[in-house]
Amino acid sequence: MIVSGVDGDPKPTHFVLVPFLAQGHVIPMTDLGLLLASRGATVSLITTPVNAARIRTTIDRAAAAGLPIRFVELDFPCAEVGMPEGFENVDVLTTHKQIQYGQDFFKATALLQRPLEHYIEQQSPRPSCIIADLCHPWTRHVARNLRLPRLTFFSICCFTLLSFHNIWCFKVLDGVKDDKEPFEIPGLEQRILVTKAEAPGMFGEWEEMAEEVRQAEFEADGIVANTFEAMEAAYIAGYAEAMQKQVWSVGPFLLGCTPAFSDKAARGNRAVVDVPQCLSWLDSKEAISVVYASFGTLTNMKPAQLMEIGSGLEAAGHPFVLVIKDGERSREVEEWAAELEEKVGPSKALLIRGWAPQAVILSHPAVGAFITHSGWNSTLESITAGVPMITWPHFGDQFLNERLTVEVLEIGVSLGVKVPMSWTDLEEQGPVVPRDAVEEAVRSLLDDGHEKGKKMRERARELREKAKEAMAEGGSSYLNMAHLIEHFAQNDKKREEVNGD
Ligand code: UDP
Repeated sequence: MIVSGVDGDPKPTHFVLVPFLAQGHVIPMTDLGLLLASRGATVSLITTPVNAARIRTTIDRAAAAGLPIRFVELDFPCAEVGMPEGFENVDVLTTHKQIQYGQDFFKATALLQRPLEHYIEQQSPRPSCIIADLCHPWTRHVARNLRLPRLTFFSICCFTLLSFHNIWCFKVLDGVKDDKEPFEIPGLEQRILVTKAEAPGMFGEWEEMAEEVRQAEFEADGIVANTFEAMEAAYIAGYAEAMQKQVWSVGPFLLGCTPAFSDKAARGNRAVVDVPQCLSWLDSKEAISVVYASFGTLTNMKPAQLMEIGSGLEAAGHPFVLVIKDGERSREVEEWAAELEEKVGPSKALLIRGWAPQAVILSHPAVGAFITHSGWNSTLESITAGVPMITWPHFGDQFLNERLTVEVLEIGVSLGVKVPMSWTDLEEQGPVVPRDAVEEAVRSLLDDGHEKGKKMRERARELREKAKEAMAEGGSSYLNMAHLIEHFAQNDKKREEVNGD
């Protein structure tokens, strides 16, 4: 086991953070760890060698800033479950098109139970609390065995968590005959219609996993959420009531991570582009003129679809940044991308092949629209940057996140996709979204004289300001974070009085 980070002046309240090993989970949990450490707690962030290597810049910066956060590398048991060595993050499965290891990956994570218990047992004083990803239901055994409180964390908004919960709790899907038949989500403030295809449950057909996760969620001592009250107070309260648990809304984490201890350009991975060059490309553009298109870390965009998006962006006539993931690159795609760059010209098209510094790009004033798969991290990054979205959900929580963006917050336009495209679906197929739809959506947000786009931008900016207020000293998320740390400090005291440990 390798432990890096500083040990000097450890603070008494100690949180052990266990992120699920996928970028959309590691990134927010790392931000949460940095935030807790910057606010007076000690943090142990559990990771593995491959995942730690990706965030080396973050680890080094936190150490240089003297933050009491340790990065604990546990060996990932690939061989024990029959996976190739190095398959330590879900995106490795998608990049190498080895999705048959999906279930094995979850089995391997559960084998981290004993090494994690061993690490916790070595700590003196005992840690105060485990904060574990919802995708790690096995951590409830760790908490029970070691008599530690456990909070769950899932980087999803409470609107989506409550929607999933209510659909399950009211057994709505039992009465739905057709996957495409719209039904109203019960128990929400607002009338929201979805189909079973769009919201089949958080883990789709993995019923066993879904049941375990539910069990772990019910047994948890509370919930940490990367959201803020001014955005979705009713849904935060609704979810807390439904679960009969405290929901600590302490986000958006990104806004609390200052350059003093966190490098926005290196969240989750090293960018493949030279960041200053990328920034000077954006600097050369007018304010609110650029479209940024990126679809997270797990979607699997087929060549024909990528080409369709490229044509739509080209036809819309605004400068654009398009991200092509490593797993989507092929000779065919490379040839097309080079042609597109030549045709449109380097001053109008920036194609990023691999990991993009997304949070940096989105917060540049030149960016005026974000075509997104509606992953929660991407959605929240767009909100914190005040950028309206063009939504194209693929699977999981994304269709519900889209509803929040488009129907509740009214800061996005939908590309109208109704059929999920799973990350496990590798079959070649024709484009789902035609170029005209991409062009029209971009124009509706960025062309002069579009009232709808103007209104959306105004709302997006208002929300960005509210997000900033929530994270600023005295704001709702700032205070919730203080209460969270204080709650476990008090809990430690009580435990010491009762048990002497
Ligand atoms: N991300 C990034 N560069 C990339 C691709 C993704 O920085 O090239 C980050 C993005 O900013 C976000 C996370 O990866 O923080 C993706 O999380 P999200 O929930 O949006 O989608 P997921 O990949 O989990 O579906």
